[in-house]
Amino acid sequence: MKTKINQEFKTRFGSEGTLYASAGRINLIGEHTDYNGGFVFPGAIDKVIMAELKPNGTDKVRVFSIDISEYAEFGLNEADAPSQSWARYIFGVCREIIKRGGKVHGFDAVFAGNVPLGAGLSSSAALESCFAFALNDMFNDNSIDKFELAKIGQSTEHNYCGVNCGIMDQFASVFGKAGHLMRLDCRSLEHEYYPFNPEGYKLVLLDSKVKHELKDSPYNKRRQSCERVAARLGIETLRDATMEDLDKIKSDITAEDYMRARYVIGEKDRVLAVCDALVKGDYETVGKKMYETHEGLSKDYEVSCEELDYLNDIAKECGVTGSRIMGGGFGGCTINLVKDDLYDNFVATAKKKFNEKYGHEPVVIDVVISDGAHKCE
Ligand code: ADP
Ligand code: MG
Repeated sequence: MKTKINQEFKTRFGSEGTLYASAGRINLIGEHTDYNGGFVFPGAIDKVIMAELKPNGTDKVRVFSIDISEYAEFGLNEADAPSQSWARYIFGVCREIIKRGGKVHGFDAVFAGNVPLGAGLSSSAALESCFAFALNDMFNDNSIDKFELAKIGQSTEHNYCGVNCGIMDQFASVFGKAGHLMRLDCRSLEHEYYPFNPEGYKLVLLDSKVKHELKDSPYNKRRQSCERVAARLGIETLRDATMEDLDKIKSDITAEDYMRARYVIGEKDRVLAVCDALVKGDYETVGKKMYETHEGLSKDYEVSCEELDYLNDIAKECGVTGSRIMGGGFGGCTINLVKDDLYDNFVATAKKKFNEKYGHEPVVIDVVISDGAHKCE
């Protein structure tokens, strides 16, 4: 990828710039916890967006996307927004830095990537944080702190791309470190690194390629259930509730709200259990908690679907250590922690069985926990 970018930059702009990269992310555990003030547990992966940049002495940005094979040129004022959606991510990052009092001048750039688009690995956050990191280094002496870089990416999605996302993806992409996952507290935004070196295991995602479009947003309904239970308990979010608290009010709430809250409270406990397990290097417990999360998402929170449950069943049958839906649900990927010697059989079986039932194979995406945004040496 490096060589391709270098060559394209040289041909197009006749010189050499500086290379930067940032990564997509996985979330090991902690699903539907963000809006409940809980924890998520992401890590950056070895799938990246890489960009070569160089100031060009003008007030214009000139950028070429290798993967889409398109060129865009735009100014740095609010009225200069480009029309191509990929370029709006870069324009948005520039604007959000400027809005915060940071400096951005004209530059030339070429970029490419291998984060699968729309597979739940957040290629958009990788793109934003790659450029945010680069512009901080090139024009601001790295004076913008890392958390602000993540927020610049998040605001870009909100203000320039019409996606009302949380902070996890950009956070993971900016803060990611090889051999580490991060527990992010979605309430205080405090974070802590945990070692993740699953020797003898692989992490693999199976993308079902299905996305069920559902009538009246089920996500909002889940959120409302959580809010109702929290209000009934007199707390702000379910983060502060225990299973005992929930059981005391069981007869005052609907069976559905009870199930939703049971999942959320259980998930908070599972994240904490995974932290302990990671410190001990106990990946069998990590895997067990992943299965429990899947069960909770499927039975209590009811955000799974037939295809994802099927992939989870296959993982169980193949002796995979841990497997669960990753992301909001109703489609997308499962994330699997699988022993090296079971890997080949698992992947082959999943492809075959899934194909027999649904007429296409799931896409296999191997991931290794890696560094987030950085300057390439
Ligand atoms: P994801 O879940 O992967 O973040 P999004 O729809 O949020 O999916 O973001 C995908 C968008 O990000 C693409 O439509 C494109 O505009 C931009 N993007 C991501 N990767 C690339 C790439 N390699 N080259 C150009 N644009 C990219
Ligand atoms: Mg995205």
